[in-house]
Amino acid sequence: MSLITNHMPTAELQKLDAAHHLHPFTHGHDLGKKGVRVITRAKGVTLTDSDGNDYLDAMAGLWCVNIGYGREELAEAAARQMKELPYYNTFFQTTHVPAIALAERLASLTPHDLNHVFFASSGSEANDTNIRLARTYWEAKGKASKRAIISRKNAYHGSSMGSASLGGMAAMHAQGGMPIPDIHHIDQPYWYGEGGDSDPQDFGKARARQLEEKIMELGADNVAAFIGEPIQGAGGVIIPPDSYWPEIQRICDEHDILLIADEVICGFGRTGNWFGSETLGIRPHIMTVAKGLSSGYQPIGGSIVNDEVADVLSGVDFSHGYTYSGHPVACAVALENLRILQEEEIVTRAATGTAPYLAEKWATLAEHPLVGEAVTCGMLGSIALTPHKASRAQFAAETGTAGLICREQCFGNNLVMRHVGDRMVISPPLVITKAEIDTLVERAWTALDRAHAELNDKGLMKAAS
Ligand SMILES: *Cc1c(COP(=O)(O)O)cnc(C)c1O
Repeated sequence: MSLITNHMPTAELQKLDAAHHLHPFTHGHDLGKKGVRVITRAKGVTLTDSDGNDYLDAMAGLWCVNIGYGREELAEAAARQMKELPYYNTFFQTTHVPAIALAERLASLTPHDLNHVFFASSGSEANDTNIRLARTYWEAKGKASKRAIISRKNAYHGSSMGSASLGGMAAMHAQGGMPIPDIHHIDQPYWYGEGGDSDPQDFGKARARQLEEKIMELGADNVAAFIGEPIQGAGGVIIPPDSYWPEIQRICDEHDILLIADEVICGFGRTGNWFGSETLGIRPHIMTVAKGLSSGYQPIGGSIVNDEVADVLSGVDFSHGYTYSGHPVACAVALENLRILQEEEIVTRAATGTAPYLAEKWATLAEHPLVGEAVTCGMLGSIALTPHKASRAQFAAETGTAGLICREQCFGNNLVMRHVGDRMVISPPLVITKAEIDTLVERAWTALDRAHAELNDKGLMKAAS
């Protein structure tokens, strides 16, 4: 019981954690020496650690707590469902009420004819489903050669073998034999970092045209799908030039390639609409969802497919599924989350009130000497750290050195902001207030000042040549 009610001293918890707990994306020995942070409570946008320090969580956990922490309605929905039917599966011609209700709700929330949901417990699982689903779709249509899937470098689609192969993270591909065969990566639409002197719109179009070149190279008869995040999240909150997605859409349509929008971060209000596809003007055949679907209160994700894809799939016995596909407790919690997001108009109020306010305040960070650009879309934001603003220069030090220094200064100033290389990213709960946005930006500015001083002290304000 003491573990749950936090009666153990922090040092004791850190010792046990180091002894027995393997952390994701972490160098274990380094963390063991330093001592892990122990988060014990959260409410609204505020986290509390085991020493009683409060932090403004500008990351909404891992981009997921859209509704904010501490909504008891979600806890009650879980308890009710556990008492009534804690588990049953959706295999073997069986179903249950929460899965039916959530599938129907998602069909009504998603745009166009995305009306059919295959449930998973995470974004990674859902993207693994998408690989099999896209290939099975083409097999069912008598075009089994259409197997290849094209993605982008620096994309994030999850951490299982399939989804990490879809992703374009070099560090992940360097371990464990990835990517799996028949997955290809084109360059990302990252003008600030890779566009040089080009016009951003020309650059966006050129990056999209790489998809067409890749399809030509492989042969359209061999390509099943293209997958992309409307806005890359874990890659650094990279907002593509306006010219990018319309060109991608045209290419997918012309070459008869399925378009998969990975909405795991962009979905459920993050970009100012219910889905990033609406904000960016994308008409996907398949959408991946997770994270904000339950605001992180329960692990749940899914693949949402359009009428035509569902119709073709219905013609075969799709040999795929998870024990927890459509888990009743996760579905009940997701339904309650969606009910609150809708009834309290949280998505609309963020889009029309607090997101424009965040955009205005966040833009002021571009005036900081350490910042090369500051951008937002809805409740997503990022800044690029640079040793030299005018040239958008990278640091001479290894990528991520400055970002890590800045992240630690943020923590030290009671702000959780993540770094991706030398970009700082935010994705706060959609319920963040204007006063809390003021606090966020003030703390970010102070952390930037301190990071700037530390970088100067360490002689790291040098541009890469
Ligand atoms: C987080 C994320 C995933 C993976 O979701 P998990 O629930 O961590 O498996 C997939 N795609 C995108 C865009 C993500 O941000």
